[in-house]
Amino acid sequence: MRANVELPTEFHAVNNFGACGVGLFRSEFLLSRPGLMTSDVEQYETYKLLAEAAGEYGAIVRLFDVGGEVGPDVKERERNPALGLRAVRFSLRHKDIMRTQVRAILRAAAAGRLSLVIPMVADVADVRMAKRVIDDELERLTAENVPCSAVQIGVMIEVPSAVLTAEKIASEVDFFELGTNDLVQYTLAVDRGNDQVSEWFRTLHPAVLYGINRTLEAAKNAGIPVIVCGEMASTPVYAALLVGMGAIDLSMTPAMIPRVRAVLSQIKADDARAIVLKCLAAATADEVEELVRNEFPDLCRSRNS
Ligand code: PEP
Ligand code: MG
Repeated sequence: MRANVELPTEFHAVNNFGACGVGLFRSEFLLSRPGLMTSDVEQYETYKLLAEAAGEYGAIVRLFDVGGEVGPDVKERERNPALGLRAVRFSLRHKDIMRTQVRAILRAAAAGRLSLVIPMVADVADVRMAKRVIDDELERLTAENVPCSAVQIGVMIEVPSAVLTAEKIASEVDFFELGTNDLVQYTLAVDRGNDQVSEWFRTLHPAVLYGINRTLEAAKNAGIPVIVCGEMASTPVYAALLVGMGAIDLSMTPAMIPRVRAVLSQIKADDARAIVLKCLAAATADEVEELVRNEFPDLCRSRNS
């Protein structure tokens, strides 16, 4: 179990809650003011601190996952930011910003154990374009004799096209991270932040479960690890289902780790697998939820407490 962190003030929580390093560092605060990015030096210091806090298990830094509403030119607002110039698309369009971030990560990796994850890739083409920039920067730093280190490169699997081509993507990266928050949003076409449609945001929708299962299988066949880092991982009953689907690496808000650990230690993986198989055969989210309520009555009762 690893920690999801967003701010340096949270780094101490990694040890306080017994996390095995940082599974997801949401780096966006470094770009929090529109058009402004912290310098290469400040970023380097932040990533170094992160690596120190994460210790032997290391930390995974996500490249900026900003949407169309944040960027060098705030006048260019998009009509549909979630489907717009977000995450890896933003980085590929603003290569200066991407290069600065990548350089800072590669430099900090010389001082501690860091990996890098590329958010919201749609397919292998996105992966190759992003990796080319990372390779270029590593070459450049090496040529300049700047202390740096190669890093493992993973991708967030969180849009349906990435799920559907997961086998192909798996052969080009070192690991997957399953971003279930966005995976639900994009699989079901439900805006994750819109209360009007929150009843359609169904984490246990069969289509979401297929997507997760398929991603885990693709990674297993390719021999690469998967870290599940969306909210699903930090909800005990969902975490049990993830384990049933074969997930062994979960990353979550640090404060949730003790509870999820306690719950999972009571559950046999084979039993969870049997329940998951029933869930995968269900036709609707209601049916899956009913099944889960029957199979895990105690966990479901305590979900809202
Ligand atoms: C996710 O989409 O599940 C995820 C972990 O990333 P974020 O919530 O930051 O989009
Ligand atoms: Mg996401």
